[in-house]
Amino acid sequence: MRIDLHTHSSVSDGTQSPPELIRAAAAAGLDVVALTDHDTTAGWAAAQSTADAVGIRLITGMEVSTKLANTSVHVLSYLHDPLAPELAATIRLACGSRVTRARKFVENLAADFDICWAEVLAQVAPGATIGRPHIADALVAKGYANDRATAFATILHREGPYYVPYSVITPQEAIAQIRHAGGIPVIAHPMARLRGHTLDEESLLSFVAAGLLGLEIEHRDNAPPDREWLRAFAARHQLFVTGSSDFHGLGKPNMLGENLTHPDDFSELLSHAALRL
Ligand code: AMP
Ligand code: FE
Ligand code: FE
Ligand code: ZN
Repeated sequence: MRIDLHTHSSVSDGTQSPPELIRAAAAAGLDVVALTDHDTTAGWAAAQSTADAVGIRLITGMEVSTKLANTSVHVLSYLHDPLAPELAATIRLACGSRVTRARKFVENLAADFDICWAEVLAQVAPGATIGRPHIADALVAKGYANDRATAFATILHREGPYYVPYSVITPQEAIAQIRHAGGIPVIAHPMARLRGHTLDEESLLSFVAAGLLGLEIEHRDNAPPDREWLRAFAARHQLFVTGSSDFHGLGKPNMLGENLTHPDDFSELLSHAALRL
């Protein structure tokens, strides 16, 4: 069984619509694919119809934006109830904060670049979660960068002069809200050193105490020595382990199925889902 539990569509910062993404997942030979757009479940329905049509199993998911001190932490949620009020309110606030932040970011950029808000909005699918990738796309469209990766490494760098943070809840709060919503929380790319997202043992322990159930270990942003340490941590704390691509269409080099989740770990995820009230 080929299982990829982390992908993005144009409902956030991927470049393919949910039906296109699901067809690509089937074409890549996946048996199971999770759609995990940032702070939104708006792609679930379209993804499900296509999954039913092409005969691939969809796991509904979402990647919740959180912050621990100044570190951005992404918490994946699988199979939660999208109508659970607390988590739904959280992502509404996150999306509002993303818009305010993106506008401020563009204002900062406009001091040195010929770029405006309308040009950024032109890169965002209607109703989609806005983020730095769309600002990157606008910069690429204007010839200021060759691709998203270059824009992130230069103009949009988190330590650069134009950067603006956005306000979101803590990972511990997100984990608790995901559990309340009947979801299965998993920390995405816990050791993404190049992106400045790394977590120490004390933080991970606090996540376990909050109700964490899994760790995304097989992910290109986690360096091999870090993965070994994470596997030992997961074993000590009875966490299941996932492997995923974090596919963003043309927005990142990550390819569907480049990392896979072991069927035993997938079964554990499903049994947690079956046990919830
Ligand atoms: P933001 O949360 O708006 O600051 O932007 C972070 C988002 O940008 C994440 O969802 C990543 O998927 C995406 N991202 C981070 N680094 C890169 C990169 N080098 N190239 C393309 N996308 C990236
Ligand atoms: Fe993303
Ligand atoms: Fe992420
Ligand atoms: Zn992601």
